[in-house]
Parts: sequence; structure tokens; C-alpha cells
Amino acid sequence: MKEPFLSAVPVLTQLEDAGYEAYFVGGSVRDYLLNKQISDVDIATSATPEEVKAIFPKTVDIGIEHGTVLVLYGQKSYEITTFRTEGDYQDFRRPKEVAFIRNLKEDLKRRDFTMNAIAMDKTGQVIDPYNGQEAIKNRLIQSVGNAEERFSEDALRMMRAVRFVSQLSFHINEDTMTALKKLTPLLRKIAIERKRAEFEKLLLGENWQEALRIILEANINAYLPGLKNKPLQIERLLTYNCKGFTKEEMWSILIFCLQIDKKNIEVLLREWRLPVKEIKWIHQLIFYLEVRLHQEWSIYDLYKAGCSVIEAVEKLYHVINDLHDSAGIQELLEQYHKLPIKSSKDVAITGSDLMQWFNRSGGPWLKETLMKTEQAILDGKVINDKRKIKEWLLACSQN
Ligand code: ATP
Ligand code: MG
Repeated sequence: MKEPFLSAVPVLTQLEDAGYEAYFVGGSVRDYLLNKQISDVDIATSATPEEVKAIFPKTVDIGIEHGTVLVLYGQKSYEITTFRTEGDYQDFRRPKEVAFIRNLKEDLKRRDFTMNAIAMDKTGQVIDPYNGQEAIKNRLIQSVGNAEERFSEDALRMMRAVRFVSQLSFHINEDTMTALKKLTPLLRKIAIERKRAEFEKLLLGENWQEALRIILEANINAYLPGLKNKPLQIERLLTYNCKGFTKEEMWSILIFCLQIDKKNIEVLLREWRLPVKEIKWIHQLIFYLEVRLHQEWSIYDLYKAGCSVIEAVEKLYHVINDLHDSAGIQELLEQYHKLPIKSSKDVAITGSDLMQWFNRSGGPWLKETLMKTEQAILDGKVINDKRKIKEWLLACSQN
């Protein structure tokens, strides 16, 4: 066994010493068997949340109604979830109730795919009652039990299947795919936040193009904001090589392909419930991308956009135009770094200087004069120095 499991072994040992069962489960075991980088280690146990809390001094209730307690141990934190089954499903969404149980096999049975239904004990021994290892060997995404039933219980699993296609470059097995194609309308019931989480992971996965092809094939896009009836636009996105793109850059190029009216971009991103900060960033990228697609960067645009926007927009521009030479980007960034000012805060004069020099009270002229000065500094007409600016402004006012 290796890190991060090794550090977590004492957590399992403590649970076992207290008389409970405890295992590593979920994505961490799957990724370990795949020899992939492991993000977070999930633990399943027969102890109830109250029993877990009685063992570990530092815990946080993060989802106690679903049986999950966060345990702070060493420098790390672990999600420990009580073995459970899920009761009747309500509206094809979340289970109406969860029942805590003492049996690992039953817990593994409620999990979505066989590759995610494998447990591993503290010695590295694998418990795999649903043949998840074979699915991993064959690179297959396969529901645990009857796929139609499992997707009807929780329709989000269909999006999870497609996001795993993207992240793992696995195929969806035939039965699972048939059920998926049949039941996509159930996605109507799923909260947009949950769909977004899966969709964003899909966009960032290595095999995102294949995953989007499945989205189109199964018409999942009909249940995603702004993507209904947009097969051609999505197919256009598939032609781009977006390797190394950030989440926001992926959203930007998607929106570019969808050719959405400027004023509707925010509406769409709000529909997806993106955080305001991300919406603003994406908005900026698309704004400057449109500018860039029509003309070279002006000094003023470089100044207004700033370093990070320039870099991201150039990345998008290069991909859209199938350009491979990044020397141009470096040149632009150098040009940016050479600008005499980087923001209006850097201008060496203030409104009160102006009022004093011209012996005038405040008013719209102040803002106008400051903007004129800012532009002149950028154009190299005047040096960003208080005395020089004063001379220049006085000379201007005499002409
Ligand atoms: P990731 O690497 O993205 O964390 P993961 O497989 O660990 O992938 P999580 O969302 O962290 O995914 O869920 C942890 C585990 O919980 C899964 O491996 C799976 O066993 C189970 N699980 C998660 N969501 C569902 C679901 N909707 N239905 C059934 N089981 C689920
Ligand atoms: Mg996980």
C-alpha cells in the first residue's frame, strides 16, 4: 500500500480496536487499482456517526443525515461514512431515508458502478463482491445490479457515468448504456448544482470529447441549461484541442461555440448556478475574445484586460484558430509588463491635485481629465510623473 492510504491506516485501526469494521472505499480504491493519482481517501465503517464521534476527538458533522462525519487526524481529514442502504427513492433524486447497517456487502451494493463498489482493508486486501476489478481491467463502467433500476433510483448516476468516461477513458458497458439512453429524461428532476459538478468534471477530463459525444448520443444535453437542440454547436466544440484548459476557459469556449447573444451569457451561467466570481471572469474572457477575433490587441485593451485575461484569451484564440506558436503570447505579455501603468491607481496624480491646480471644485471634469491623463500616459504622450503631468495638462488647457 502507499500514500495517502498509509497515513489513514491508524484511522481504520482505531475503528477496529473499538470493535467496528472499517475499509477504504470509493474512488480512492478505484484510482489505486488503476495506478492513478489518489485525491481523497474515503472510509466506510460499521460504526454509526455517533460511535465514530465517540472515538475521534476532532470531528466535523458534514453530512450526518447521510452518515458522514469528517474526522481530523494527523494533518489530514477523512470522510467516514457509516455502512448504509438507501430507502425508497423520491422523485428519482436522493434517497428518502438512509438506513445504517452493519454489513459491508450491502453498503457496496448501493454504490453506483462496480468499479466504485470495491473496498480495501488496512492490509491492502481487496473485497470485491461485484467484480469491480474485472470491470477496471476491461475499462468498463457498469452499474451495480440492474442499470435501469439504479438510474431510476438516482438519475445523476447517468451523468456520473459519462463524467467517468471523460476522466478515466473507460467505456460504458452495453446494458448500462441501453438503460442510460432510455432514462435520460429522468435528469429533468436532478438539481442543477449536482449536474454542474459532474459536467465540470467531464469538461476537465482527458477524454472530454468522447464524453460529449455520448452526451449528444443519449440526448443528455436536452436536460442541461442552454445545450438543448445544440448538436452542431457542441460538435464544433469537439473539433478544438482544449488540452490544459481551466474550467473557466472550457466554459468560455463552450459559450463561444454556442454563439450566445452577449446579454444572455450571464443568464445562462446563472442558470447553471455558477458562482458570481466565475461568471464575471468568464464574461471578461468572452468579451476580450470577441475583441481579439476582430483585431490585434490595442495598448488600451492590454491595459484594461490585465495579464491573466490576456494569457487566457490568447489560449482560446490560438485553439480557435488552430495556432501552435506561443511566442506571440510571450510578446504580448512582455508588452503588457512594459506598460507605464497597470491600473488607474498607478496614475501619479489624484482628483484633489487637479482641483488645486485648476482652482476648480469637483464635477464630471475630474473624471474626464483623469481618464485623458491615463490614456496619454499609455500612449506615451506624457510620463507618469506628477510634475510632468501638471505641465502637460496646463499646456493642454492653454491650447
Ligand atoms: P472522485 O474521484 O471524483 O472523487 P468518486 O468515485 O470518489 O470520484 P465521489 O462523488 O467522491 O466519487 O463518491 C464516492 C463514492 O460514493 C463513489 O465511488 C461511489 O461508490 C459512491 N457514490 C457517489 N455518488 C453516488 C451516487 N449518486 N450513487 C451511488 N453511489 C454513489
Ligand atoms: Mg471521491
